[in-house]
Amino acid sequence: MIPAPFTYRRAWSVEEAVELVAHDGEDAKFLAGGHSLLPLMKLRLAVPQTLVDIGRLTELSYIRDEGDHIAVGAATTHGELAASSLLAEQLPLLAHVAGQIGDPQVRHCGTIGGSLAHADPAADLPAVVLALDATVVARGPAGRREIAAADFFRGLFETALEPAELLTEIRIAKPGAPGWAFQKFTKRAIDWAIVGVVVQGGRVALVNMGQTPVRAAAVEAALADGASAQQAAAHAAEGTSPPEDLTAGRAYREHLARVLVRRALVDAQGRT
Ligand SMILES: Cc1cc2nc3c(=O)[nH]c(=O)nc-3n(C[C@H](O)[C@H](O)[C@H](O)COP(=O)(O)OP(=O)(O)OC[C@H]3O[C@@H](n4cnc5c(N)ncnc54)[C@H](O)[C@@H]3O)c2cc1C
Repeated sequence: MIPAPFTYRRAWSVEEAVELVAHDGEDAKFLAGGHSLLPLMKLRLAVPQTLVDIGRLTELSYIRDEGDHIAVGAATTHGELAASSLLAEQLPLLAHVAGQIGDPQVRHCGTIGGSLAHADPAADLPAVVLALDATVVARGPAGRREIAAADFFRGLFETALEPAELLTEIRIAKPGAPGWAFQKFTKRAIDWAIVGVVVQGGRVALVNMGQTPVRAAAVEAALADGASAQQAAAHAAEGTSPPEDLTAGRAYREHLARVLVRRALVDAQGRT
């Protein structure tokens, strides 16, 4: 449980962070809260030669009202999201989900940028940004670009980020349609979701039902056609490819998805 040796560097600006990682190429990684990367390094599933610590970049830690959208800095922690009065008022789904992640220590260190960049299909925030149709802002050696959440998650632990690209901000349009809900089924309170469901208006995203977070397109189409929560939820597993692991098999996850989508849709209807 001891990581392989690595060089530690602290970045004091976004530009410096990008420069340091670009300089060391594929062998360098950004370090944010360390709550996904360090466990992988201890297991030697990740062996970066250089870690560039972005944990003190206060310029990446904010939650701002930008009029038509909310802007969240990538280094904002789950705890800060959960405690934000701005989010409680404007985007309660994001604050609520952040407050359900792990335990207080994880929420104190883990960041939204780290969670999205890590792209674990069992993580909660990737499904939230997908359901909210968010935009991810990245800065790299080639400059700044914006990536739609729908294009960001490419595969298992794989995103559209280039190796030296730093995720800097998440932009989320203020929800037009009311009604939100989050359902997370876990073995123990602090665990990752066996299956999770995020609802905002008529948009539904699933946690741990494929190699990436997925939109429940068949459920959304049924809702748009006027189906009830029960009728729409019957389509929850369509188009998904849930993992088989020690915790749950495919059929169990498909069943859970139908049950949790129904519960989430009913909850969301109660919040309109
Ligand atoms: C006990 C435990 C329980 C947990 N439970 C949950 C849970 O219930 N739900 C859940 O969703 N998550 C859970 N997590 C994961 C937690 O949310 C992590 O903190 C998060 O996934 C990663 O964020 P981080 O800031 O710690 O990233 P790090 O571990 O520092 O980095 C993760 C990866 O992202 C890259 N990275 C980090 N920041 C950036 C950036 N700004 N731009 C580009 N790349 C970047 C790193 O190079 C690394 O590859 C849990 C973790 C633990 C240890």
